[in-house]
Amino acid sequence: MLKGDGRLGHDLDPQDRAPKDACGVFGVWAPGEDVSKLTYYGLYALQHRGQESAGIAVSEGSRILVYKDMGLVAQVFDESILGTLRGHLAIGHCRYSTTGSSVWENAQPTLSSTDGGGLALAHNGNLINTAHLAERLAPGSIRATTDTEVLTALLAQDSSRPVEDVAAELLPEVKGAYSLVWMNETTLFAARDPQGIRPLVLGRLERGWVVASETAALDIVGASFIREIEPGELLTIDERGVRSRRFAPAEPKGCLFEYVYLARPDTTIAGRGVQSTRVEVGRVLAREHPVDADLVIPTPESGTPAAIGYAEQSGIPYGQGLVKNSYVGRTFIQPSQTIRQLGIRLKLNPLREVIEGKRLVVVDDSIVRGNTQRAIVKMLREAGATEVHVRISSPPVAWPCFYGIDFATRAELIAGSLSVEQIRSSLGADSLGYISLEGLTRATTLPADRLCRACFTGEYPIPIEDDRVGKFVLEAQR
Ligand code: SF4
Repeated sequence: MLKGDGRLGHDLDPQDRAPKDACGVFGVWAPGEDVSKLTYYGLYALQHRGQESAGIAVSEGSRILVYKDMGLVAQVFDESILGTLRGHLAIGHCRYSTTGSSVWENAQPTLSSTDGGGLALAHNGNLINTAHLAERLAPGSIRATTDTEVLTALLAQDSSRPVEDVAAELLPEVKGAYSLVWMNETTLFAARDPQGIRPLVLGRLERGWVVASETAALDIVGASFIREIEPGELLTIDERGVRSRRFAPAEPKGCLFEYVYLARPDTTIAGRGVQSTRVEVGRVLAREHPVDADLVIPTPESGTPAAIGYAEQSGIPYGQGLVKNSYVGRTFIQPSQTIRQLGIRLKLNPLREVIEGKRLVVVDDSIVRGNTQRAIVKMLREAGATEVHVRISSPPVAWPCFYGIDFATRAELIAGSLSVEQIRSSLGADSLGYISLEGLTRATTLPADRLCRACFTGEYPIPIEDDRVGKFVLEAQR
């Protein structure tokens, strides 16, 4: 396993505004192709799903090589590193930590070496019985503190049997959200939890196969979309093609938040484009929460499609009132106290000439703690807005996610304890409107019983039976 120079980027956003994504996974089996570069570009397309660390595992048939480090995909890899990663199959991962700290040891792909060979694994999602599963391992047998490391060790534990047989027996025991890609020296594997909480898709290259978290990653490497990997399905991909087996009945409960915020707008989920869903959400929001105003502006970028829909439906002109610095998210330079105090301005700056003297509708995707929206309202007023009406394209997030999104604890979620009117007052907005849960669900065109909506309702589709859950569950036991 190769390690980079250990550089660690610092998140410059002191407001900690966004729900943190869960990770992106990518796998390719394609003899004759430059699989490490394909994986690099696949991860590049999935960068929005995890920005703490990135890694690629590759094999030429006899040995798995893993390179991973802290930072963005483009910070971790360069031409010379990719040049050393040669083979016919590869997997890759970009991480946001939802179990275990954000440290190099917890970066992925994870690697387990046994007498029978190696096994490298990349995971999107979060398990809810990690502590229970870890009890099956000999004490001290894993170094990292992630659910993924536990899974890797369990999959590699019995090298006397084909790994797909081990997986088919193990996965029904694994509870929570998992979209997995893993490999041994010769074969690529993929599996998705029976609820299919996180997305996972299969694509076709001229000379091989690709598995990725989102369809956008297929587009970027020139793969054609074949189908979504079914909830409860296990795929084996090698020179004999793609073989499918079911390890559990499908009980689909896809994450509703993927539509609101997590997935790229150019991704397709269940046959519907994310961008068009978000625009429709904006139209519904305008019908549910109309207001007399002069201009609709988004909180860029994630509020943009819903703001377009709101403007279309309401007839109020759409404009760009906030400019986002897309590059400020991560830097190697630790901000000084003076810079930190600038807060939101590091990321967003108002366009005074657009907003001065206007009654504004500001559309955002969600409110987690409320710090960002409070800062935006203040900033817009200081820049001359006469009224600020906040519209949110998701219902109030009042419950934590145990399936791979790190929002906050219930106590930290502003909607966990305050009413909509109290939140409005806390933000300093003239009015506040959230889309209804029914309105958001209808916009996805999926029936409510096929979606996880737990962060809005508190009804968890996979029961949280073990109280040993949480990001630091394995660290707490040390
Ligand atoms: S709790 Fe919310 S964010 Fe988590 S999987 Fe369910 S819908 Fe998605």
